[in-house]
Amino acid sequence: MTRRKKKSLRFKIITILIILLVLAGGAFAFYWYTTPQISLEGDKTMEVTMKDGYHEPGATATFSFHDISSYVEIDSQVNDKKVGVYKVIYTVNYLDKTATAERTVSVIDKEPPEITFNEGKEMTIRTGEKFEDPGVTAIDDSDGDISDKVAAKGFVETTCEGSYEITYDISDSYGNEATAIRTVKVKGEPLHETKGVIYLTFDDGPSTKVTKKILKTLEKYDVPATFFVIDYGDDAKKIKLMKRAIKDGCTIGIHGYSHDYSKIYASTDDFMDNITKLQKKLKDDLGYDAQIIRFPGGSSNTVSKDYCKGIMTDLTKEVQREGYKYVDWNVDSTDASGNNVPAKVLIESVKENCDLEQFNVILMHDSDAKETTAEALPKIIKWAQKEGYEFRAITMDSPAAHHTVNN
Ligand code: ZN
Repeated sequence: MTRRKKKSLRFKIITILIILLVLAGGAFAFYWYTTPQISLEGDKTMEVTMKDGYHEPGATATFSFHDISSYVEIDSQVNDKKVGVYKVIYTVNYLDKTATAERTVSVIDKEPPEITFNEGKEMTIRTGEKFEDPGVTAIDDSDGDISDKVAAKGFVETTCEGSYEITYDISDSYGNEATAIRTVKVKGEPLHETKGVIYLTFDDGPSTKVTKKILKTLEKYDVPATFFVIDYGDDAKKIKLMKRAIKDGCTIGIHGYSHDYSKIYASTDDFMDNITKLQKKLKDDLGYDAQIIRFPGGSSNTVSKDYCKGIMTDLTKEVQREGYKYVDWNVDSTDASGNNVPAKVLIESVKENCDLEQFNVILMHDSDAKETTAEALPKIIKWAQKEGYEFRAITMDSPAAHHTVNN
């Protein structure tokens, strides 16, 4: 071999070595700088409902252009049966190299509780029979059995034939609400446990003049009565009179904050506001929960037609749906026919219209101008006691003497 040839061979070997070195370096660099890439299917942050549940969308992974998705491992903490925020960790390990990705899954509750009726959705009871609400069962996917948190609203007038509604409201801890309505029908001949009972009722008070005299008489004869009151301002004397009445076994009903027909019968909302305003006042001033109403003018009034057609038809239902009992009268003392109607006239009217074979709700008034009512009362009581009548105050179980609605 010539020197020249030898030199050329050495050159070739060195060149090959350099190329090999470069290739190895390149391969090493490629390995050094290439990492697995992981990418999530679906969104990085997800919100799912308990009802729909969480369905794992998975992730894909590559190493350079090589698909290594089958190497992805998923560590999911998601419990889609429980409200919460959970993490899902995706890990891929390839050629001793690791990549991770993370997904946040919020499980939320959008399902309202489910209400089922204990006993029927519709119930029928006999007139005069006591209504015991069997309630409802409420089951929620988050909270479980929350039947004891159900709020029931509505009044069944068991003394009058008719159809009544009880509304049940419930919401779970995530604000999902459910409502159910039960219909209670009251039917048939009334039971006669109230035969020969007199319910004395006084509207439009309290009056420091007249109510005071009436209470004195009631105390003297040991007889209770019911007072359907209107706004009494912040008159301490009037508050004292009402407290005294309650102590004597009388009951306080709501006549309304205002007695102005044009205002209270303008709309259903106006009327209900007028009732709740006085109810709240009585609660604050007397600690007394008044739930019995007397409509100004009675439920049969036609004066309300001038302000809102059909309002009494609506109101007689609405007050019961809201849990109130309304009471009209079936004996009129006629003390509203004018101011200071002679006591004699009032006494005669009561005597003539009371009936030992039925219950008797007597309409009287105790506003300032009704002095003759206070005057007639002792004579009315004496007569009734002699005849064998019994006096009671009106409660939620008393007969309601509903009138026929005319508007
Ligand atoms: Zn009145």
